[in-house]
Amino acid sequence: MAIHSHIGVLAFPFGTHAAPLLTLVRRLVIDSSSQGITFSFFNTAKSNCAIFSGQEFDNIKAYDVWDGTHEGQAFTGSNILEAMQLFLAATPGNFEKVMKEAEVKTGMKISCLLSDAFLWFTCDLAEERGIPWVSFWTAASCSLSAHMYTDQIWSLMRSTGAAKTEEKTLSFVPGMTSVRFSDLPEEILSDNLESPLTLMIYKMVQKLSKSTAVVVNSFEEIDPVITNDLKSKFQNFLNIGPSILSSPTLSNGDSGQECLLWLEKQRHASVIYISFGTVITPQPREMAGLAEALETGEFPFLWSLRDNAMKLLPDGFLDRTSKFGMIVSWAPQLKVLENPSVGAFITHCGWNSILESISFGVPMICRPFFGDQNLNSKMVEDVWKIGVRLEGGVFTKNGTIEALHSVMLNETGKAIRENINKLKQKAQYAVKFDGTSTKNFRALLELIKSPRGI
Ligand code: UDP
Repeated sequence: MAIHSHIGVLAFPFGTHAAPLLTLVRRLVIDSSSQGITFSFFNTAKSNCAIFSGQEFDNIKAYDVWDGTHEGQAFTGSNILEAMQLFLAATPGNFEKVMKEAEVKTGMKISCLLSDAFLWFTCDLAEERGIPWVSFWTAASCSLSAHMYTDQIWSLMRSTGAAKTEEKTLSFVPGMTSVRFSDLPEEILSDNLESPLTLMIYKMVQKLSKSTAVVVNSFEEIDPVITNDLKSKFQNFLNIGPSILSSPTLSNGDSGQECLLWLEKQRHASVIYISFGTVITPQPREMAGLAEALETGEFPFLWSLRDNAMKLLPDGFLDRTSKFGMIVSWAPQLKVLENPSVGAFITHCGWNSILESISFGVPMICRPFFGDQNLNSKMVEDVWKIGVRLEGGVFTKNGTIEALHSVMLNETGKAIRENINKLKQKAQYAVKFDGTSTKNFRALLELIKSPRGI
């Protein structure tokens, strides 16, 4: 089959952004296998290495983009904001350079750009080339919606005073009328455009309506009102997820087998799975509070904890809890959540983790840290009613025990379990042959196939 479309994919190489984009591209490749499309995936070397893990995929070629650091300045990941700032300063030149290389290598002009929505300048690159720009928002629709109302939010904060708006609700945002200003991401609450992250997202908001399509890894039925509102704001607003239910996942190899075997031996819905995603480690005081709660309540637990954070655990914790708990430096999270022995997920409320928890019907205990996590946790507790937030917002021994009791033992937990199973069913319907996400995915495929968009 002759190749007739060349799609350039621009990834944002921090947090869990590039991996879901690659998952989307892999699905596009599989579903378009007979339709002559090739993808060039532009991402930093470090992120490419992490997400491809040495694997090669037909019709996807990875290109390394300069990360903005100079020789001897390599980042270990300890200061992610600084790394982000350097990377953003190198854009869009770093991407344009490899885009040209990819065009020479394939002998084909790029006919469509697919980028992480954060990379707003892709809009200009696409305009210069006269080709469509498809943007991929890697978080939830609710946070996208909140960002789209930034101007109104800022205007209200300026006229009322920031402190007085904290407890006010977003009465003017469809589908989010119970959300308070204090639930919003810092990048919306601060109008400091000196901050690279705030500026990047603000510019994104200004460009997104020009995008041929805004694609989200979610499903329409989770937020019908927000979905309709966003459909009115964008040329095409396409919920195509949850991708874990509809897409091939990248193999983790054999890593984590040990904890899966351990889970097999545990009682049904008895284990607390704990993970704070790829970036966060709680402060020592909170780590101690969480550990003490697990130990005192003798809750069976599986904790994904990076090696360098082990020192934050109380002395002797591992020995004292070895009969009912297990710690691993990385868990095969999808397989863990799928396992019937898992009864609750203590999470930082990253969007991928929430969607995975919904897809497998596991109630959540939320400890959000930054970005969209606080808003996500508000939706989990008060709108979707599929989890609880911690009293006081941080881990303390008593607060954590209370949250664990309410999710694992009380009537609250029963209701939460019912709600999350209903939502799981809706997610499963969305990815069926005639489900909303499947239809949206087909529309996306049509759009990227035709060089001028739809
Ligand atoms: N993850 C995993 N094993 C771990 C920790 C995390 O597989 O031990 C995966 C998890 O399944 C999810 C991603 O890492 O897909 C975390 O994404 P999320 O959006 O929740 O958080 P972020 O890393 O962006 O803060």
